[in-house]
Amino acid sequence: MDRRHLISTGAVMGLGTVAGCATDSRAAGGAKTAFDVPQPTLPVVGSAELFPVRRIYCIGRNYAAHAREMGSDPNREPPFFFQKPSDAVQFVAPGSTGEHPYPPLTKNYHYEIELVAALHRGGRNVPPEQALDLVYGYAIGLDMTRRDLQRAMGDEKKPWEIGKSFDRSAPIGPIHRVAQVGHFTQGSITLKVNGQLKQNADLKQMIWSVAEQISKLSQAFELKPGDIIFSGTPENVGPVVPGDVMQGEIAGLPLLSVRVV
Ligand code: MN
Repeated sequence: MDRRHLISTGAVMGLGTVAGCATDSRAAGGAKTAFDVPQPTLPVVGSAELFPVRRIYCIGRNYAAHAREMGSDPNREPPFFFQKPSDAVQFVAPGSTGEHPYPPLTKNYHYEIELVAALHRGGRNVPPEQALDLVYGYAIGLDMTRRDLQRAMGDEKKPWEIGKSFDRSAPIGPIHRVAQVGHFTQGSITLKVNGQLKQNADLKQMIWSVAEQISKLSQAFELKPGDIIFSGTPENVGPVVPGDVMQGEIAGLPLLSVRVV
């Protein structure tokens, strides 16, 4: 059974696909993996194919007013990035309200609405003027954050991973291909909680554009097809509790609706 067959079988059965390591280990030693591990995927609007998620990169403090509310200087200091595990994606279909479990250990659980770029090509040291060639499409996503844990770990100069990189910390809509929606360099980005407007900004207020983010990221990591990039959140992040409904919107993409349960 080759990888293509595994992928199509997984897609048809709705089970996700088998991890790439199955192919890699077979290539290395002829053996197959001891058990199957689902490959996280996202639907692609207008296509029967699924987008396989390889890595989730996130940029920090990419809107000046949000950088200030986080207590840092937004004067175009170099961008910084962190990752979430690829299986942190929680797909939410447009027209539905996804049920998102309130995670353990936190008492201050925050929303961050973000534009997400999805890559179908990779590279190292990609110049900004070529960076958008790597983009397959875009989605709307939430970089959910256990703010109390993130802050506590930061205060102790420890990795803030537990605040950012936990299970289902990335609710996200489907991928819209560039051929259909173009690139997003400006346009409204908003988040409402229980119908009340909380975050309200424009994508053009990003400190580092998507192209610049890709270029900078590719200096630190070899980017590969399947990588997705959360491009940062505007100001006025805040808490949610069970029962709250978050509704995120980016001009040109369908509403992302998520209820905390
Ligand atoms: Mn974020």
